[in-house]
Amino acid sequence: MLYPIIGITLDQDDQKFFINHDYVQAVIQAGGIPLLIPFLRDPIMIQKMVEQCSGLLLTGGKDVDPFYYGEEPSPNLGEIIPERDEIELKVFELFLQQNKPILAICRGCQLMNIALGGDLYQDIASQISSALNHDQHAPRGYPTHTIDIKKESLLFDIIGEKKIRVNSYHHQSVKNVCPPLTISAVASDGVVEAVESISHPFLLGVQWHPEGMSVLQDKHAMQLFSSFINACDLVEKNY
Ligand code: MN
Repeated sequence: MLYPIIGITLDQDDQKFFINHDYVQAVIQAGGIPLLIPFLRDPIMIQKMVEQCSGLLLTGGKDVDPFYYGEEPSPNLGEIIPERDEIELKVFELFLQQNKPILAICRGCQLMNIALGGDLYQDIASQISSALNHDQHAPRGYPTHTIDIKKESLLFDIIGEKKIRVNSYHHQSVKNVCPPLTISAVASDGVVEAVESISHPFLLGVQWHPEGMSVLQDKHAMQLFSSFINACDLVEKNY
């Protein structure tokens, strides 16, 4: 284990950058060193920062501006943070170019899909009839719905099971995916719960919050972070 450095994107408001402890703890627990990525404008600074990292963790947060997937805002669109969209799209592109591992969670999974030419349901409850409750009122790490994992997928290789239960805190979800992304898990209402790339060694997006489950020692969530950090470790060794 080489303790790879993992870039972690941040949420922000007018005064602060911030992120839930769980993301940072999950990375440390799996053997990665977290490097928190604030908003930067200078492209050389961004480039340098990306070079320091072996992998990227795209975190959860507010909605991505639907402008990026060619839509006008729905009345049910939540808050958007233009600066955050901008930095995350740039950072994602650089990690992708360098073929470094990317784990994208919730908003991160949605942002990754948009960056690769896909789009979103801006609001599941008003756009998908007979959708499940994807915005649970339960303890953070408690799994409330089931997902079906595609057998020929990176996600299945990591988890080793076809059906698992996950937590759920999202009102948007991935709609159409474009190559190289493919869908690797769905909920029973058809909502996309995981996507991955077929042409990248480790590019995985999950719609649930494994970081919130891994602090409670959930086996599958820990497998997810360990596999991600191992993939980053491999990058480190090959450089
Ligand atoms: Mn869900």
